[in-house]
Amino acid sequence: MQTPAEEMCALIARLYPICRSITGDGVRKTLAILREHIPLEIHEVLSGTKVFDWTVPREWNIRDAWIKNAAGERLVDFQKLNLHVVSYSVPIRRRMRLAELKDHLFTVAGHPDWVPYRTSYYNESWGFCLSQHQLAQFDEREEYDVCIDSSLADGHLTYGEYLLRGETEKEFLFSCHICHPSLADDNLSGVALAAAIARRLAALPRRYSYRFVFVPGSIGAITWLARNEEQLSRIGHGLVLTCVGDAAGITYKRSRQGDAEIDGAFTHVLRHSGKPHKVIDFSPYGYDERQYCSPGINLPVGCMMRSVHGTFPEYHTSADNLEFVEAEALKDSLDTCLKVIDLLEHNRAYLNHSSKGEPQLGKRGLYTGLNVDGNQRQQELALLWVLNLSDGKHSLLDIAERANFPFETIKFAADALAGTDLLSVVTS
Ligand code: ZN
Repeated sequence: MQTPAEEMCALIARLYPICRSITGDGVRKTLAILREHIPLEIHEVLSGTKVFDWTVPREWNIRDAWIKNAAGERLVDFQKLNLHVVSYSVPIRRRMRLAELKDHLFTVAGHPDWVPYRTSYYNESWGFCLSQHQLAQFDEREEYDVCIDSSLADGHLTYGEYLLRGETEKEFLFSCHICHPSLADDNLSGVALAAAIARRLAALPRRYSYRFVFVPGSIGAITWLARNEEQLSRIGHGLVLTCVGDAAGITYKRSRQGDAEIDGAFTHVLRHSGKPHKVIDFSPYGYDERQYCSPGINLPVGCMMRSVHGTFPEYHTSADNLEFVEAEALKDSLDTCLKVIDLLEHNRAYLNHSSKGEPQLGKRGLYTGLNVDGNQRQQELALLWVLNLSDGKHSLLDIAERANFPFETIKFAADALAGTDLLSVVTS
């Protein structure tokens, strides 16, 4: 029996070699493997379909690619690393000299062994990504055999979706991108975390329904939104998961609303975690929170990450590999998400039925007032906070924040009081 962290690492390792892009068989293969873990529904949307201001692009597939020298040796080989081909490269088969080839070669400055990850989705071109060491093998006088055996043709954009129904139709949305080839932290860590959350939640009682979408970045999220616009009002909370497997502390990026319940819950959990973390404000740049938080959509969707896109050297390079993600970090990301979910599941408002003067807690066995240790003292203070602020308007999270207590302490007090005649939950 695998631990959740082992399960996530194994899934990442299995998905890592697949050449994904925003469309094509790499996405289908990825979703087929995910389907062994969760019962995904797979959707295919025709190329040319209008989705808001965008059009679903043609489908890209690739079989092989290389640059061979005169001796027929592959200096750059797609079969060894799929990052070697600029994603969405149009097919090419020609001999050329370095002078012509040069404009189509890309390396990473400052890291001679690393290969960059590049895309050219909406601009027809082709290119190769390679390390500086590989580039040093090229010679101005030699002619090279250049081949990209790819196809760009009408087809589909593919995405996966899984709805785990709860007691209510109000939904918690999890979204992650599935469009990067062999990159582990940026894309696969989010996929593995979402699958792990879904599997854990399936075994737990749920007030909310949980929707998991696995979409190609940007165009996939836009497509999903355009096809589900009528049902978006059901989404009460949401999280975009990305770069959640590296060793950095957790960063939470607030939703565009900034004060949504998910923003308060995530911030609260991080503040009481005792671990290094950051909370940053929304900006219209980053991952698919850009789409979920576009002004005409404006969903309460935040973004959970560890390292922040574009700010770490391994980002969008071959160094974002299987060694870059750590079991311990994935486990911490999972535990944190489950805590946030648990908080939101239990974050309700209550009503104090004895609000004139403090009610007598001693006669109900809830208060000793004498010789109590720190923990019990905090528990008793929590009872007073819950009673004082349970006017039907303050949620347990509001009370925890005001008292500066962990949510669990306030929830424990509310549960104790709800077991007496003093307090009852407000059903909304
Ligand atoms: Zn990326």
